[in-house]
Amino acid sequence: MKDDLPDEVIIHETVLRDGIQNEETIVSLEKKLQLIDRLVGCGIKRIEISSFVNPRLVPQMADAEELWNRIERKEGIVYSALVLGKKSLNRAIVCGVPHVGIFVSASETHSRKNSNRSISEAKEEAFNLIKRAKSSDMKVRAGVMNAFGCAYEGDVSPEKVMDLVRDFMETDPDEICLADTSGMANPLQMHTMLSRLREITEEKPISLHLHNTRGLGLANVWEALKQGVTIFDTSMGGLGGCPFIPGARGNIATEDTVHMLCEIGIETGIDIEALIEVSLYFEKYMGKEFPAMIPHLKHHKSNSF
Ligand code: MG
Repeated sequence: MKDDLPDEVIIHETVLRDGIQNEETIVSLEKKLQLIDRLVGCGIKRIEISSFVNPRLVPQMADAEELWNRIERKEGIVYSALVLGKKSLNRAIVCGVPHVGIFVSASETHSRKNSNRSISEAKEEAFNLIKRAKSSDMKVRAGVMNAFGCAYEGDVSPEKVMDLVRDFMETDPDEICLADTSGMANPLQMHTMLSRLREITEEKPISLHLHNTRGLGLANVWEALKQGVTIFDTSMGGLGGCPFIPGARGNIATEDTVHMLCEIGIETGIDIEALIEVSLYFEKYMGKEFPAMIPHLKHHKSNSF
């Protein structure tokens, strides 16, 4: 059975960016630094530190510069940021960010709400950003948001997604990412999309940014694993969502994803017990129960039996 599954998976931890961007409790700079350290200590090898966005729109990211300046960068760890425009990329360049995500939405309505641009305007800007990032020695993941459906528009035509990816391929990014921003993907759709995508991307690494909005997150991971995807964005606690999509909460939880991978014998290099400890610690700090399931199961077990 394991023959058609990868041996190893890279977890791209996004709690400090996607995870907390909509949270009311502002996470202090010291706490962010501590979390980065502890997550890396658990074996996380890729970690999204911040976006560079207008702090009035996303107050949680207001300390991006200071955070980047104070991180103790460890060998072998990929520290990443999301950039959203020219100014945003300039800020990332000043901070010496080594790895950036640059995304365009496949939904016209979402594109306008998210970036105030049509898809074709956003695409043109993304191309310029990718070129500039690459010439600044950054690694680039080029991504398509709402690749599996849109909360505003419903179905998103796979052709639109493939066209965007085809165009992205011309800029030679280091990775192509498909984001299920509205949490509408299902495993059958995953199968179809990934088979088609592979024809375009060939050997280029593919990553997925999945949400568990409708409970299909890990089913989609399973199908993607069978299609050879080895990079998954996850967020500790299952926190997260897009500020411009109402109700689009819940990235797939790092704990639940790592647990599943561990159970089916796929290596992530992450110590699940240590991760659960960090998750419960952060949950206490945020003062709310996180959607992730595995930490609570263990928690209740150790307390009740
Ligand atoms: Mg997300």
